[in-house]
Amino acid sequence: MTGGAQPASVVVIGAGQGGQQTAVSLREHGYQGRITLISGEDALPYERPPLSKTYLKDGAYLRGDKQLWLRPATYYVNQSIDLVAGTVTGIDRTARAVRLADGSSYEYGHLVLATGARARTLGVPGAGLRGVHTLRTVRDAAALGASLAAARRAVVLGAGFIGLEFAAVARESGCEVTVVETRSRPLARVVSARAAAHFTRLHREAGTHLLFGQGVAALHGDRRGKVAAVETADGRQLPADLVLFGVGAAPHTELAAAAGLPVDDGITVDARLLTADPHISAIGDCASFPAPRTGGRLRLESVQNAVGHGRLVAERLTGSLRAYDELPWFWSRQFSTTLQIAGVDERPDREVVLGDDPDAFSVLLFRGNELRAVESVNRPGDHIAARRLLHRRVPLSPAGATAPGFTLKGYLTGASTG
Ligand SMILES: Cc1cc2nc3c(=O)[nH]c(=O)nc-3n(C[C@H](O)[C@H](O)[C@H](O)COP(=O)(O)OP(=O)(O)OC[C@H]3O[C@@H](n4cnc5c(N)ncnc54)[C@H](O)[C@@H]3O)c2cc1C
Repeated sequence: MTGGAQPASVVVIGAGQGGQQTAVSLREHGYQGRITLISGEDALPYERPPLSKTYLKDGAYLRGDKQLWLRPATYYVNQSIDLVAGTVTGIDRTARAVRLADGSSYEYGHLVLATGARARTLGVPGAGLRGVHTLRTVRDAAALGASLAAARRAVVLGAGFIGLEFAAVARESGCEVTVVETRSRPLARVVSARAAAHFTRLHREAGTHLLFGQGVAALHGDRRGKVAAVETADGRQLPADLVLFGVGAAPHTELAAAAGLPVDDGITVDARLLTADPHISAIGDCASFPAPRTGGRLRLESVQNAVGHGRLVAERLTGSLRAYDELPWFWSRQFSTTLQIAGVDERPDREVVLGDDPDAFSVLLFRGNELRAVESVNRPGDHIAARRLLHRRVPLSPAGATAPGFTLKGYLTGASTG
């Protein structure tokens, strides 16, 4: 579809953040064909970020998943969006139809793969013991919440965002918490050393034990098959009645690969989020797309990315020719600290820090003379200004950012009026 006739029907596999947004945006853009939103989970489309944050606090999970819903059930009925519960097991690209595990099938004019990702685990002995968790779905969160309510000692494997967010909640619930991380610092792939040091301090001050540069050899259980200890690679035994794997997520690419579509780190799409098949798009966590600003390819796991992708595909299917060009942004909340990141760059070569408050600062990340990303810790104003600067590609060099009296907001205002 490149601005031509609209497809008679759109089938979306996956009713998560991206799939749901596609359906919503299609209707907002006046699409009148059939929309089928196939959900592999027995829940109305919901948001995942609270699962590692507020949903686990003070028994909030006991009140059910309604608090997480993106829209009430009536919305889908009123908008004639067919929500179908089931797992798609195959795509027939010749017949343009998807097949579900229960034997039913749906034909499509256009197919959107919004299959997301699954939580990774480690292939260590004892990974299947009771009390060992992953966190991706609302069901995972309910099981984790129930374990947490009874736990005294939690061990988190991996100091990424989900692992640290859970560690904070567990500590706030009075649990003893140890985080084991193979790298030398937390959030190693995703934030600067300065921001990582801040989160290290935050967790240590809260009494959490952080073990860096440490692998896991095995999980050991008691006689009833419940986890009792984590054995580290150097032979330490960490008592635990709850273990969370926080070791990242793997994109659901199997359906696409089995249908003969190219897959790299995710399902390969072009700048308009089309796969090699002009009748199939892929979006969100499962999609590997050309990075619009920095070159190369990206696969991002964030709400902004899934929502932005869903909107773009809906626009394309209703006639727009726009390529995907949105600025990535992300947030995390741990204890009472909010981290917000605008832009993305895995290999910045210069950093400038704004703010002298150790609990509220921003790190500006440059490649050469180009501002690539800004991490803001408890500085929401900086984050908003950074998003605008980066979105509009306003030039800013490290020298400019270290000028006396420099602020992101002031610089943005100057750039807008100048
Ligand atoms: C605990 C947690 C906390 C997070 N916190 C943040 C945060 O603070 N900020 C942020 O920006 N992002 C956060 N994220 C990431 C964000 O939630 C994801 O990036 C986003 O949900 C991706 O949306 P998606 O539609 O691509 O995939 P998902 O939301 O994962 O949806 C994919 C859906 O597809 C379904 N599916 C897969 N295969 C099939 C099939 N064959 N048939 C039918 N259905 C199928 C899955 O069951 C799933 O329901 C968090 C994620 C988690 C798990």
